[in-house]
Amino acid sequence: MRDVEPNAARYSDGMLEQASAPLAPLTTLRVGGPARRMVTATTEQEIVDTVKDCDSRGEPLLILAGGSNLLIGDGGFDGTVLKIATTGVQKQKTCSGMRVGVAAGHDWDTFVAEAVDLGAVGVEALSGIPGSTGATPIQNVGAYGQEVGHSIAWIRALDRSTGEIRGMQSRCLEFGYRDSIFKKNPGKYVVLTVWFGFDPPAAQPADRVSAPIRYAELARALGVAEGERAPLASVRETVLKLRAAKGMVLDPADHDTWSAGSFFTNPVLDAAAFEALAARSASAPPRFDAPDARVKTSAAWLIEQAGYAKGYGSGPATLSTKHTLALTNRGTADAADLLGLAREIRDGVWDRFGVELVPEPVFVGAEL
Ligand SMILES: Cc1cc2nc3c(=O)[nH]c(=O)nc-3n(C[C@H](O)[C@H](O)[C@H](O)COP(=O)(O)OP(=O)(O)OC[C@H]3O[C@@H](n4cnc5c(N)ncnc54)[C@H](O)[C@@H]3O)c2cc1C
Repeated sequence: MRDVEPNAARYSDGMLEQASAPLAPLTTLRVGGPARRMVTATTEQEIVDTVKDCDSRGEPLLILAGGSNLLIGDGGFDGTVLKIATTGVQKQKTCSGMRVGVAAGHDWDTFVAEAVDLGAVGVEALSGIPGSTGATPIQNVGAYGQEVGHSIAWIRALDRSTGEIRGMQSRCLEFGYRDSIFKKNPGKYVVLTVWFGFDPPAAQPADRVSAPIRYAELARALGVAEGERAPLASVRETVLKLRAAKGMVLDPADHDTWSAGSFFTNPVLDAAAFEALAARSASAPPRFDAPDARVKTSAAWLIEQAGYAKGYGSGPATLSTKHTLALTNRGTADAADLLGLAREIRDGVWDRFGVELVPEPVFVGAEL
């Protein structure tokens, strides 16, 4: 990496620009080397100008927001990191309900709380997911039976291949399980604003109920049957409680939350591969219907059955003591420690079951 004056910060046109910026504190895994340069953009114009400037100079560019789905290698990033720090929510009434536009850098859970207060239905089960709103469509974040793609109406994004700002309708965004057009074309688009479409809220707060509950554990905790609705605010509170018990709500004092959430996606198998897995398993593997007659099974179950229990590991990187699927930094881990643990688990599951685990976080300067 080029020698630079460490942490030299200067402001130009309101933008914060910093040389040799540490990246580890900007990620929830808290690992990774520094960026050669970091720019923090608090307006859409600053985002667009910085991206276009880097692209015109052929400068490597990394978009970073909440840092909760990033594993940055110990060598850091030899280029510009653009920290998305725009905030703000705009509301529009439409003939069919409500459109809400959220700036890309706006904290996701703050928006979910605002949506629930407004009586907007469709994102309540996504409470407590860390990070920014603009990152949610990248992997179509999902939890407790909801996916963000179902509530997104359209997205305003910068297309780096043309330099144009485009409106992209939801139906063109190719949302799937932890997948989207953005995931399929890494780095091509920069999300500027996410527009959500909601039905009109019930007039009386007491009448505000959630979308039908599609997750057995959540339905049990709420005391309703799957497919029934529950009071909107109760769904948010219950999801937050369930998540906290699994270390899935950020808490700086709790190393179980120094993670990137689920480290591996749930494998989606064709029927023959699922039968082969079942034949190698002592008990029936979890199965959930997936599109195209495929079957989704549980990565957490595979990891546990392959012999890696909660808390597994003796070094500075271990499995969370609350959730098998989260790889965590116990305080002094570096990226190499986390990658070593990830390789051990991926290979152990492959040897035991012949199923390949695919990592969920985005790797920068790192590979399994
Ligand atoms: C404790 C914990 C629990 C989690 N639980 C869940 C969960 O339940 N479900 C789930 O789906 N995920 C979960 N995650 C993962 C993560 O929170 C989400 O993926 C989140 O949307 C990432 O947002 P971020 O702002 O932190 O993105 P970052 O980590 O900053 O970036 C992630 C990727 O998105 C890109 N990106 C970010 N912003 C933009 C933008 N505006 N335009 C274009 N590209 C962009 C980055 O370049 C990078 O490739 C969890 C993570 C943690 C730490």
